[in-house]
Amino acid sequence: MMAIGVFLGAFFFGCTTVFAVSSSTAEIIIFPEKIIQGEPFMATIKGLSGASLVRSVTFAGKKQNIIVYKGMSRTLVAIDLNKKAGSYVLSAVLRDGTKIEKTVIVEERKKIEEPFSIPAKLGGNTVASQKKLVTTLSSENDILAGLKTGSKSFWLEPFRYPLDTIFITDEYGYSRKTGEYSIAHKGVDFRAKVGTPVYAMNRGVVRIVKDFRNYGKTVVVDHGLGVMTFYMHLSKIYVQEGQLVLSGQRIAASGQTGYAESPHLHTTVRIDGISIDPIKFIALFK
Ligand SMILES: [Zn+2]
Repeated sequence: MMAIGVFLGAFFFGCTTVFAVSSSTAEIIIFPEKIIQGEPFMATIKGLSGASLVRSVTFAGKKQNIIVYKGMSRTLVAIDLNKKAGSYVLSAVLRDGTKIEKTVIVEERKKIEEPFSIPAKLGGNTVASQKKLVTTLSSENDILAGLKTGSKSFWLEPFRYPLDTIFITDEYGYSRKTGEYSIAHKGVDFRAKVGTPVYAMNRGVVRIVKDFRNYGKTVVVDHGLGVMTFYMHLSKIYVQEGQLVLSGQRIAASGQTGYAESPHLHTTVRIDGISIDPIKFIALFK
């Protein structure tokens, strides 16, 4: 009887038994479990026998890139600062057609607004210079939004901080208000005296090297599949567009170029065009 059972099993269930994938044990784990607006999370599909067994992943109906990190299929999801708080569904379709789902709760971020001033070198606190700041920022953002990303992941190691010593002077997520304008700070500022070495946060390809009016001297490293890191207000840049850089490679020296009231390094991390909190992003790999 035993032999017949095995034979029938192989006959009737063909491929599914050959792959020995028990889809019923596959599940989605999200980290961290608590997510607020402007933060990223990592979803891992566990219980699979191989990394290539996930066909597609969507979050809130939008297709996600699948990465393989530490041997497991995962996706990095960015929650926009302005995404409505509430519950969203992350779903994965496995190669055998099985669909698994996980509900993700996005909590509201406390809104903080602070007044800001425009440095004298950019025209000081006048209505005209406020307007100019907003319009030039928007054109700089358009250039940065148009950067191409690689069709594969360029990195394997955890993301790291861009400086040897980390001291946050301005956090991600609050708004800087002047007159009728409110500009969200979609990155993090680290204390760094002019000339401090700035390192690539992971392996990737340099997509732009440019001296912007507001962002100052800027480098953007593309880590592939929509993940990019931005380094701004630099004093010196040691890399060129198109260059492959390694994790921890010195790419620049920090500075105070562009709209910067004091020397610091502004870092932004973007996933699929959405800028999220870099500190929370690095924490995903801890
Ligand atoms: Zn900043």
